[in-house]
Amino acid sequence: MTPLRGRFLLEAWDRASAAGDRGRAAAVLSVARPGSTPAEWDAVGIPELNLELARLWHLSFGATLNGCLPCPQCGARLEFGMSVQEVIRELEAQSAEPTLGWTLGDDTFSMRMANSLDLAAASSEADLVKARRVLLERCIEVNGNPATDAGASAALRESEFLAETNFERLHRAAEVTCQVHCFDCGHYEAVDLDLPRFLWAKVRHGAGRLLHDVHELASTYGWSEDAILGMSEHRRAGYLEMVRS
Ligand SMILES: [Zn+2]
Repeated sequence: MTPLRGRFLLEAWDRASAAGDRGRAAAVLSVARPGSTPAEWDAVGIPELNLELARLWHLSFGATLNGCLPCPQCGARLEFGMSVQEVIRELEAQSAEPTLGWTLGDDTFSMRMANSLDLAAASSEADLVKARRVLLERCIEVNGNPATDAGASAALRESEFLAETNFERLHRAAEVTCQVHCFDCGHYEAVDLDLPRFLWAKVRHGAGRLLHDVHELASTYGWSEDAILGMSEHRRAGYLEMVRS
């Protein structure tokens, strides 16, 4: 895995900016894992995707997973920080069992973890019940057949309650939660963290600063972007210190 620094940080920012909300995590990971494509990352289960994002955070931005979110009660801006290693440990345990199976009557069901494409397909449904059904059908096989097939779909309907319960079970531990405490209103809650969103905020912020540094050095010395990004961070910081003194 390549840390998001220098030209890799700008490349990740560039690709993810063009990818839009849904494709950002896949775009960033395709830069961090050279040779992989965004389409490959779209097909990876959410816990494994989150695990890769947590590893990338640790490698690129250090041991604390931090960011800001609004208080669920009063909307005040809350800062949070948690150990990335702890998040990685929890997600590693979860990713070890990516499927779940059960039987009902003569039918055997097998469920896999949802991926980005499944979430996108579900979110395109306006109706919540329909969205839920799309998600289950995409992630479940009945007797080895996709649950989108007519016969399998009927069997899934019979086992809907179990399917819902198992889906919750399979995905519950995959969520990254953080305890937040609001000093304004006293609200205390475990909040689900949207890892792709927080990593994107970090990438955008870091790339913005780096672009500014490149602009400053290029304007002063006339060096190319490539030459400036090819320097070590120490050397770049040394020149910037002189420019700004
Ligand atoms: Zn509050």
